[in-house]
Amino acid sequence: MLVDAHCHLEHKMFEKDVSEVISRAKENNVICISYGNNMESNKRTLALADGKTVFAACGLDAFNSKQNLEDNLEFLEENKARLAAIGEIGLDQHYFGEKELSKQIEVLEAMLGFAEKNSLAAVIHTRKAEEKVLELLPSYNCTKVLHFFLEKKLAPKATGQGCFLSLPTIKSKDRTTIIKNGQLEFILAETDAPYAWKDEKTGKPARNEPKNVKEVYGEISALLGKPFKEVEAQLYDNAKRVFRI
Ligand SMILES: [Zn+2]
Repeated sequence: MLVDAHCHLEHKMFEKDVSEVISRAKENNVICISYGNNMESNKRTLALADGKTVFAACGLDAFNSKQNLEDNLEFLEENKARLAAIGEIGLDQHYFGEKELSKQIEVLEAMLGFAEKNSLAAVIHTRKAEEKVLELLPSYNCTKVLHFFLEKKLAPKATGQGCFLSLPTIKSKDRTTIIKNGQLEFILAETDAPYAWKDEKTGKPARNEPKNVKEVYGEISALLGKPFKEVEAQLYDNAKRVFRI
């Protein structure tokens, strides 16, 4: 089995054909971990989870840090038995800058606390706030995943802290470096669908979907000179260590 460690099947771009997208994942032996990031998307995510091909992760992220935190924590509490992980959560300083940082940190710490208390992994988005995130994480005793992580200079520090790195379906020099220098037991593969894909012919951004996660597996296999099946087995083992699947 392949695991798409991060996608958003509740996204508007899948509204019309999500069942076909899920069928294609199933046909390609891909398990999807699908994420919400606020109250409404968490509800839609849970509604899509079948516990076989699609598993749900819920959280409150940096983009939604103004939503009522208590209400969101209550929602997580009520639904925790159905969660594969806590996410998407995190810090984003690319879009928001310094002034919203304290609110984002408050929400992130509440989410990490919830993950720790319930023995769930925390799946973290970080953009232009990587150092801050790595500073906060050691205080929380839960499994951590850095999603769409391409900060090659910080990768050794992150895995040194026991964080898993989730690599996206976009080819880049940074991804290559992380794969070559990293430890395979801390790697996950993700599509971040509907994001992070290019049309093979035109090279233009195109809608991504979970079945495409095999691109990351193929790249790891090629770069490390390991059989695809061996990469598949290791990443499945990693996913089992991280997610409640
Ligand atoms: Zn995401």
